[in-house]
Amino acid sequence: MYDPAQLRSIHLSRFGDEPAIFAAPGRVNIIGEHTDYAEGFVMPAAIDFATLAAISPRADGKVVLYSENYAEQREFEASSLPAERSGHWTDYPLGVLAVLAGEGHTIPSFSLSLWGDVPLGSGLSSSAAIEVATALAVTALIDVGYPRPVLARLCQRSENEFVGSSCGIMDQFISANAAENNALLLDCRDLTFRLAPIPASVALVIANTMVQHAITGGEYTSRRAQVEEAAAVIARHRPEVRFLRDATLDDLERYGSEMSPLALKRARHVITENTRTVAAAEALIHHDLKELGRLMAEAHVSYSQDFEASCEEADAMVELAQDLPGLIGARLTGGGFGGCTVNLVEQQHAREFAAALGQRYAARTGIIPQIHICHASGGANRVQESIQAVT
Ligand code: ADP
Ligand code: MG
Repeated sequence: MYDPAQLRSIHLSRFGDEPAIFAAPGRVNIIGEHTDYAEGFVMPAAIDFATLAAISPRADGKVVLYSENYAEQREFEASSLPAERSGHWTDYPLGVLAVLAGEGHTIPSFSLSLWGDVPLGSGLSSSAAIEVATALAVTALIDVGYPRPVLARLCQRSENEFVGSSCGIMDQFISANAAENNALLLDCRDLTFRLAPIPASVALVIANTMVQHAITGGEYTSRRAQVEEAAAVIARHRPEVRFLRDATLDDLERYGSEMSPLALKRARHVITENTRTVAAAEALIHHDLKELGRLMAEAHVSYSQDFEASCEEADAMVELAQDLPGLIGARLTGGGFGGCTVNLVEQQHAREFAAALGQRYAARTGIIPQIHICHASGGANRVQESIQAVT
C-alpha cells in the first residue's frame, strides 16, 4: 500500500489543511463467479493493494477532488454537484456524494486527495476501493456512521446508478468488511457472511493475463440474460425459484429441455458454482487445502466450458500453473474474458512460482504478464492514527 504519510504531505502542501486519512483495499475473488446476481455465494479476499483518501473541510463552498494517480484536480460547488456521469475518474467520488445526498445528507465543502496502488482496470476492483475510501472519508467528515454492509450497498449503488456499471455487491462488500488472513463467504441474498481463514503459509498469487476481450460489457449482459432465462423456465414449474440460487441440478434435468441450450449451460455453471463456493469455505475452515484446490480447478473448467467466460490466454495461465511446485489451486477470477487468474500457492514457493509462471506465459503467448504476490488483507479503515505514530 502507498504510504499514508506521503499522501498526508501531498494533501497538506496542496490544501494547507491536516487531513483525516482512510484506506480501502482492492480484492480478488477466490471462488464464486457470476453467482452474485443469482442471489448466490461468492468468496473473495481483500488484497494488499489499496486506495487512500485524505479529507479536510473547506470554508469556500467547494468540493475539490484530487487524484495523485492522475495528477489532476477538479472543483465543484458543494450545493450543485453534477447529477450525471461525465466519463471522468471524478464520477467515482461524485457518485458516492450523489448517493449520500440522495440519502438526505447535506454534502459539505471539503478537499479530498486520492491515491491508490490497486492497478486500475485490471479486475482487482480499484473502483470499489475508491468508492469505499471516499464513502468512509465523507461520512466521517459529516459524522455519520453507517454499518459496513450498508456502506458497501451505498457504494455499489453509486457505481450502478451514477458510474453506470452493473456490478454486484461483492467488490464493495469485501473492501468494506474484509478481515486480515481470511476469505469471506458472502451470501448475496441477505449479505450475511462467514470468515474462512487462509493460513499464513498460503499466498494469493494474482497473475494478470494483460488481455481484456470484452470491454463493452455486452457479454456480461448476455450471460446475465441467459441465467435469468433459465431461472424463469424453472420458476414455471417451481414458483419458489426466483433465482438460480434456489435451483438444483435436478431442476436442470427435468426442465432443461425447455431452455435454450446456452441458458442450460450457463445455469449449470451457476448452480454448481454456488455449491462449490460453499464447499470451498468449508474446506478452508477445515484446513483442507487439497479439496479447495480441487474445487478451484473444477470452477475454472465450469467457467471456461459451461459459462464460456474464459479465453485462450486465461486458460493458458491456469494450465501453465498446474505442475509448478507449491500450487494449491488456480482459476480465472473476475467477470471473465481476460483479466487475472488467482493462484493459491504455498508461501515458501510463491516467488519461484510467480517467476516461473511469468516465464511460461510469456513464452506461450508473447505477452509479459504482471504477477502480484499478495496476502489476505484487512478491510477499509481510518489510518491516520498510525501515521501520527510515525511522524
Ligand atoms: P477495476 O475496478 O477493475 O480497477 P474499473 O474500470 O471498474 O476497473 O475502475 C477503474 C476506474 O476507477 C479508473 O479508470 C478510474 O476512473 C477510477 N479510479 C480508481 N482508482 C482511482 C484513483 N486512485 N484515482 C482516480 N480514479 C480512480
Ligand atoms: Mg471495477
